[in-house]
Amino acid sequence: MESKDFLARLIDIPGVSGYEMEVAHEVSNVFKEYCDDVRIDDFYNVYGRKTGGDLEDRPKIMLAAHIDEIGLMVKDIDEKGFIKFTTIGGVDQRILLSQEVIVYGKEPLFGVIGAKPPHLQQPGERGQSVKIEDMTIDLGLSAEEVKELVKVGDIITFKSPLVSMKNGFVNGKSIDDRAGVAVMLEAMKELNRLHFNADVYFVATVQEEVGVRGGTISTYSVNPDIGIAIDVTHGDTPDSSKEDTHAMNKGPSIAIGPNLHPKLTKRLMDIAKEYGLEYQIEVAPGPTGTDARVMQIVREGIPTVLVEIPLRYMHTTVETLNMDNVKKAGRIIALFIASMEEGWQKWLSY
Ligand SMILES: [Zn+2]
Repeated sequence: MESKDFLARLIDIPGVSGYEMEVAHEVSNVFKEYCDDVRIDDFYNVYGRKTGGDLEDRPKIMLAAHIDEIGLMVKDIDEKGFIKFTTIGGVDQRILLSQEVIVYGKEPLFGVIGAKPPHLQQPGERGQSVKIEDMTIDLGLSAEEVKELVKVGDIITFKSPLVSMKNGFVNGKSIDDRAGVAVMLEAMKELNRLHFNADVYFVATVQEEVGVRGGTISTYSVNPDIGIAIDVTHGDTPDSSKEDTHAMNKGPSIAIGPNLHPKLTKRLMDIAKEYGLEYQIEVAPGPTGTDARVMQIVREGIPTVLVEIPLRYMHTTVETLNMDNVKKAGRIIALFIASMEEGWQKWLSY
């Protein structure tokens, strides 16, 4: 399957943190085509295992990319049938007005977050941001119909399917981090063409956006020798500084800093260089905001590396990235895995 088609499919499926069941099943169906076996745990983390080679003490390598997305939840329904809501994960309330949403009640219901027209705003109101408590979702239904179909606690996602732009760019919601899951698919396809000695676990993790919770559970469960976290990082935009962002056309980023294993990270960069694959460096001075944060410190600690795809407008409905970087990241990771040979432990120890 083409990673862009896979990404387009995943984006259309709801998976707000804590409610990833549907997207987990779709990921599992696709992983089954490329892995030796696939399982889903009770929290909806998806584990695809792929074993290669006959080396007896081959490494156990775990990849992690999260399938959960930021979203909303029904908090109340008013007497006219307008829905009050709250946020799950890091939603920027400035982007909420005039968004299209889907409320997952008894059935998926299309709705809009309404905004007061400029004509009706009081003097001084125009320059002010609207508080989330003052926003409502309109389903175009009567109060009775809404109360019949929707209940407090139902999840809500943004409606923003994958849109293709020129030169390999795409945009849509929840590309953070379903693009990372697409990177895992690319790595699986590459490994099918390569000889490798490893037990590779491709884990689509849950609840990253609410405190890297699925990553914690799944790393403990797999207990790998090496961790590879895959997530997005900030792409360059005119309103952000060059030091905090990454070019969209210079390959994926590899992070360095205390959260990541220096020797293993250098090995990853050396492999990329050896095969002429472009990459950028992300300086991550503290614990990263990715699954690598927990992978590194589960059990007795797992040497971990982090590969990231530059993404513009993170946590909005127009998250934008370039599919070329998804392919390159999958290739670097697969070549890194395939480079593990007898004596691979030397890449971990000092
Ligand atoms: Zn993410």
